[in-house]
Amino acid sequence: MNRPARISFVSLGCPKALVDSERIITRLRAEGYELARDHADADLAIVNTCGFLDSAQAESLEAIGAALAENGKVVVTGCMGAEPEKITQAHPNVLAVTGPQQYESVLEAVHRAVPPRHNPHIDLIPPQGIKLTPRHYAYLKISEGCNNRCTFCIIPKLRGNLISRPVAEVLREAERLVAAGVKELLVISQDTSAYGVDIKYAASEWKGEKVHAKFIDLARALGQLGVWVRLHYVYPYPHVDDVVPLMAEGKVLPYLDIPFQHASPAVLKRMRRPAAQEETLERIRRWRAECPALTIRSTFIVGFPGETEEDFALLLNWLGEAQLDRVGCFRYEPVGGAAANGLAEPVEEAVKQERYQRLMARQQEISRIRLKRKVGGRERVIIDEIASGSGQSPGTAKGRSRGDAPEIDGSVFVKSRRPLRVGEIATVKIERADAYDLYGTAVGY
Ligand code: SF4
Repeated sequence: MNRPARISFVSLGCPKALVDSERIITRLRAEGYELARDHADADLAIVNTCGFLDSAQAESLEAIGAALAENGKVVVTGCMGAEPEKITQAHPNVLAVTGPQQYESVLEAVHRAVPPRHNPHIDLIPPQGIKLTPRHYAYLKISEGCNNRCTFCIIPKLRGNLISRPVAEVLREAERLVAAGVKELLVISQDTSAYGVDIKYAASEWKGEKVHAKFIDLARALGQLGVWVRLHYVYPYPHVDDVVPLMAEGKVLPYLDIPFQHASPAVLKRMRRPAAQEETLERIRRWRAECPALTIRSTFIVGFPGETEEDFALLLNWLGEAQLDRVGCFRYEPVGGAAANGLAEPVEEAVKQERYQRLMARQQEISRIRLKRKVGGRERVIIDEIASGSGQSPGTAKGRSRGDAPEIDGSVFVKSRRPLRVGEIATVKIERADAYDLYGTAVGY
């Protein structure tokens, strides 16, 4: 058979897992493998699993089952691979199970089952690698693992302690992405503000200058690339204050994704959250005074073991004070192996559900009011999709403002007198808002 070997790929889980998938696919493509659209057309299937919550594990097992049924040759990798017995018990026929970031082991397993075939076109791989995200934005992973030990989380067990990438390596990857047409870089890790702690903030050379592997130095250097830079998974350590002036100056996007998880000191203590002691409300006020355009996004867990009605009421009050722009909420799930499960009495499912609904309703009100304030103003909007005729009217595009990250935040629906292009950044006059999205007309291109 002369055709190149084909691999189908399923990528589950968070943006960090997506980055792993991109690395594996880039290597496979460089070796001459092709990607198949579905398992049935492939010579082998790879499933990159997520093991964070029990529901994610169930979804991963289901995806492995589907790949086995449709293809038969399946290699499993990703977070769930750290506990291979769970996979092999449910699916004894998988060819190999490898853990997160074990790129080499995935490739070895693929080589064993489907040896690479000669392909004269292997040099056609673009130097920036293969991106699974649309070409105009890309995730930039700056470290692996985490030094924190939040009691609800098993990521440090699965991925180990923090390992930061050298700053020059991160910056060179960012430059390559920008050269390939990426207009927005999304900086990710488990704990972005801890970047470089493990390598003692080691300096490396970039553009003839020494840059330290420090959160603020990295943000400043990325800010020179002339594209949108969005910071995810930032904890409110004191040095985070230093990045707000960069946001006010327009060097990085005025957007902070800080997973606060709760507001009650008792719950935060049991969660063992990093930087839980900082005077968060006061800091938020200062950040906003310094950078009024700042959008703050966060996530919360309700129904953490031992959470009382008072703890929850405190959280609702805190949300009222903090006036966060974007909020995601999870009902606590007792992930196997998480220390939190044995810390206090579990909260009943019905109570978790009720608290979840109360929190979401409270936040919806806040978001609606905050978004309404944008009506009449102008926003820079990056275009993600163009209307294809059905549903939206022609000349309509869907994009995001500086305050919206892809996948997790809202959208801006844009009418335009001239066709917009994906990846273009337009100035949009905002005419209407609801609790999640904005609607307007392009007035500048
Ligand atoms: S900061 Fe906490 S929740 Fe996030 S990865 Fe580390 S231990 Fe898990």
